[in-house]
Order: sequence, then C-alpha cells, then structure tokens
Amino acid sequence: MHDVIVVGAGAAGLFFAGSLVPGRCRVLLIDHSRKLAEKVRISGGGRCNITNLEGAKLDRYHGQEPRFARQALNAFGPEAFLSQFRRDGLSVHEKHRGQLFCDQGSEAVIRWLDGRAQAAGAKRIMATSVHAVQPDFDDGPCFRIDTDAGVLRSRMLVIATGGPSIPAIGASDWGQRFAQSLGLKLVKPRPALVPLNLQTAWMANAALAGVSLRVRVSLPEDRSAPSFDEDLLFTHRGLSGPAILQISSYWAEGQTLELRWAPKALSRGFAEHWVKHKAAQRLSLERMLGGADPELAMPKRFLQQRLGSLGAQLPDLSTTIDQWPDRAIRQLGDLFERDRLQPTGTEGWKKAEVAAGGVDVSELDPRSMQSLKYPGLFFIGEVVDITGWLGGYNFQWAWASAWSAARAISAILEGYLNERG
Ligand SMILES: Cc1cc2nc3c(=O)[nH]c(=O)nc-3n(C[C@H](O)[C@H](O)[C@H](O)COP(=O)(O)OP(=O)(O)OC[C@H]3O[C@@H](n4cnc5c(N)ncnc54)[C@H](O)[C@@H]3O)c2cc1C
Repeated sequence: MHDVIVVGAGAAGLFFAGSLVPGRCRVLLIDHSRKLAEKVRISGGGRCNITNLEGAKLDRYHGQEPRFARQALNAFGPEAFLSQFRRDGLSVHEKHRGQLFCDQGSEAVIRWLDGRAQAAGAKRIMATSVHAVQPDFDDGPCFRIDTDAGVLRSRMLVIATGGPSIPAIGASDWGQRFAQSLGLKLVKPRPALVPLNLQTAWMANAALAGVSLRVRVSLPEDRSAPSFDEDLLFTHRGLSGPAILQISSYWAEGQTLELRWAPKALSRGFAEHWVKHKAAQRLSLERMLGGADPELAMPKRFLQQRLGSLGAQLPDLSTTIDQWPDRAIRQLGDLFERDRLQPTGTEGWKKAEVAAGGVDVSELDPRSMQSLKYPGLFFIGEVVDITGWLGGYNFQWAWASAWSAARAISAILEGYLNERG
C-alpha cells in the first residue's frame, strides 16, 4: 500500500512530490510518457519561463472562479518558489513584464524537479498507463489503481495529468475525463494561448506572413475580458504573437477582435488631432506611417495590404495630409483605432500552450486542492479550471497548487503516523 500515488510526473506532479516532508511517506509517481516532463522541456522555447514577478496577482488568472486560486498563490507565490530555486543553485533573468526565465535552461529545471522528488523519497515509473481507478472508502480512503504495472493501492491519489495541448508529447485529457467519470463537474477544456485563424481578403495569399507590429487587442463583445498591449504576428493562416495568444484565452467562437494598430500614438486621439492640425501637416501619410513619426511607424507590407483593402475610398498615400478631406482622415482613424477582425477558429490542441477549463473549482477545497466529495483525492496544476496568462503564470499555478496539496497531505500523513504510534 502506498501513502500517495501521483498520476502525471510533469511540472505539478514532480513539484508536489518534492514538497512532501522527506522520508515520511511512500510516494509513487506514474507517467505514461517515456520522457520526463516534456512540457517543461519545450517551455519558453527551451529556456523555461518558470514564474512571473506578478505571479501572485489574481487578475492574471482566469476560469469560472479565479478567486479560488487566491489561497494557494498567497501561500506559495513567486518569491517562495524563487527562494527554493535559488537555494539549490539555479538562477533566473527577467525578460519582459516580470517574466522570469531559468538561466540554466529547461533541462536544468527538470533535473532540479526530479532531484527534489527523489530527495523526498518518491519513486517513479514511466511509460505506464493507468487503466482504471476505483475509490474504496470501506476502511478509510483508499484507491485501487489498475495500471500496466499491475494493481496498486494508495491511501491518497493526486491527479497531475495536465491538459491536452500538444498531444504529440503525451498530453492527454485523462484527468478531466476521470473527474467526470466520478461525477465531478467539469468546465469543458478548450485550447488557450493559441494562434487564431483568419480569412480576410486583405490577408489572402499570405502576403503578410512574418510581419509583426505592436497592437492593443480587446474583445468588444466581452468588456470583462482584459485588453492586451503586445506584439501581433501575422502567420500563413491568421494571427499569432503575444497579443493574440493572450486574447485567445478569452475569445469565444463567433466573437470579433478589436485592434488598435500603433496603440501608443493612437491613444492620443489620432483622427481628431489630425483633422484639427492638418493645415500644418506637410508630410504624406506614406512618410508619416513609414517611420517619420516613430510612434506611428507601421510595416510597409501591412500598410499596403490593409489600406489597399479600402481601395478608392482613400486619397493616394503620397498626398500630403493637409490635402486629405476630414472624412477620409476620420475613416483612416477608425481603421487604425478600431479595426474589427473576426477569427474563424483557433489552431487547436496542436498549437495551444495550455487548456482553459478543467475540473470545476467548486468541487475542490482551495486550501488543499482536495476533492470535497472524495476525501483523499486531489487535483493539481493544469487539470484544474485555473488558467494563467502567457508569461510564467501557468507554471506558477502548477507550483502553488502542488505546494498546497503537499502541505495538506503531509499533515494528514503525520496524523496517520501519530495514530500508528
Ligand atoms: C509549447 C509550450 C510552452 C510552454 N511554455 C510555458 C512557459 O514558458 N511558462 C509557463 O508558465 N507555462 C508554459 N507552458 C504551460 C506549462 O507547460 C503547463 O501549464 C504546465 O506544464 C502544467 O503542469 P502540469 O503538471 O499540470 O502538466 P504537465 O507538465 O503537462 O504534466 C502532465 C504529465 O502527466 C502525464 N500524463 C498525461 N496523461 C496521463 C495519463 N493518462 N497517465 C499517466 N500520465 C499522464 C504527461 O505525460 C505529463 O508528464 C507551455 C506549454 C507549452 C505546450
């Protein structure tokens, strides 16, 4: 009989095992992949964006009830994680908006996670599938786990199987389906932090693929969703880049995106300013947007395609601004300040960085991640309906939820040990 079996030896599962009080319990990690923690390996382009300085801020997380994450993030925020990480000789550097990357790369993070788990006495079996799990509460909580390695029994069961994005590296929705099979509520998983597909005449023939520019993107049909001031990248099939990955987590089928191209300059009220002061503008639009005003600069290919789509409605781009009718300036202002695009869908699980949705948090205790209906059963990491922004927040959730479960389980086991005398 094991004290704890963990299904999934990824970020959350390994961190959980390494956070148990060393030598106090028999812990086994089971993973169906051959390679350890593949998502950690490929994260952050191999450099692993392990957390974010703002990682304890609740508004960086979403789900049906993001406030559920408060206790875990307060109990174990980025500083707590970093102090353990640094104590073991690893270091980080900040890249952009608080994103902290591991200086030693993602392989070093995996070695560290695995080393911690081993130091705490955890055993691990890889390339092993779980076929069925049977809770049995006749003599205190116990789980019978049917695996490739035979039938195993455990007092407590931790589900850390992550989400189904990137199925090619062993990702699955097993944890979500298992929760549902027990009658627990599930928020249907959907791809998040994912490129969006787009079919517009002005983007046809992929003329813009590879072009990147700064935008502010928002969802006019969902004012509760945040807007993001980040880079957008045109791809062969649509839109990507940080701005689009971020908004994709909030986007629902059928909704439009509102884009403000060159957000810094346009926040000053582009069209009205130009209408008022156009007499003094001796520059052509072509020169103005081509770099004469650095805050308004836009890639030429983008201007050609986007403005080209309005065709004869605008004066020639080489015409100086003072010659433009007010109506045309306002039309241009509308286009640059409130462009509307309707994605046709997402690039799906193959390209998504995370799954939004998962085990409904109303089923779990926010202090321990334990199921309210099944004592002894815990869900941690991405399998839970808490999803972070791009930038280290999803790992921070994995660490914080794993830490909470480890503290709770250590306390329960301590109780058993005391009872045993
Ligand atoms: C390309 C990419 C880049 C990313 N970069 C970052 C980043 O830089 N920063 C960040 O914060 N987040 C990043 N993420 C997200 C982050 O990797 C995940 O949110 C995080 O790994 C979730 O941890 P987890 O332990 O819940 O799941 P995982 O780390 O995915 O671990 C789940 C484990 O469960 C195993 N498993 C699944 N099903 C079963 C089953 N049926 N039986 C047995 N084992 C099973 C899997 O093999 C896996 O080892 C990235 C994701 C992707 C895809």
